[in-house]
Amino acid sequence: MPHTLPDLPYDFAALEPHIDAKTMNIHWDKHHRGYVNNLNNAIEAAGGDWAGKSLDDIVKNIGSAPDAQKTALRNNGGGHFNHSMFWKLMKNGGGGNPTGALLSAIDSDLGGMDKFREAFNKAAGTRFGSGWAWLVVKGGKLVVGSTANQDNPLMGDAIAGISGTPIMGLDVWEHAYYLNYQNRRPDYVAAWWNVVNWDEVARLYDAAKG
Ligand code: MN
Repeated sequence: MPHTLPDLPYDFAALEPHIDAKTMNIHWDKHHRGYVNNLNNAIEAAGGDWAGKSLDDIVKNIGSAPDAQKTALRNNGGGHFNHSMFWKLMKNGGGGNPTGALLSAIDSDLGGMDKFREAFNKAAGTRFGSGWAWLVVKGGKLVVGSTANQDNPLMGDAIAGISGTPIMGLDVWEHAYYLNYQNRRPDYVAAWWNVVNWDEVARLYDAAKG
């Protein structure tokens, strides 16, 4: 069954003023839809059992994709996975701090929220060109890093950059912020903390910890 574009869990304007409605509209309707369409085309071209794999399995097994479709499956499988995750990581009235087991892990593994924010902002700010900043669970611990393009930490040794189970990711492609912030990526990153949906990050943390 072909992959489909998931509905946004809120209106285009829900994240204003931090992320503007026009950016959300284009980002979801054009960019994410493009990844979904191109993923379906790459799966059809790849043949074999790629049509039967879940999105998770496509991303985790990208290293064994056929050479002719590997780049398309990597870019568009990653693009579909990353954006499907990203929309749910934000909400109107988000921000603040996490609680419970996630906050305890941030305290013990990353030195607390201030140091975590600093490390995440640095990962987002120093990713040259297009990519994502990530908070992942690796070996039971929280780790911060980044990947290029639409690579995802679940791709593991098939990519350069951080590996592990992603529980929080920030899109730092220019398409995610340029209309409102132009070249000011740090301002976009700073504003993004105001829309983080910590309930979803905590849900992914619990799932990753098993
Ligand atoms: Mn994007």
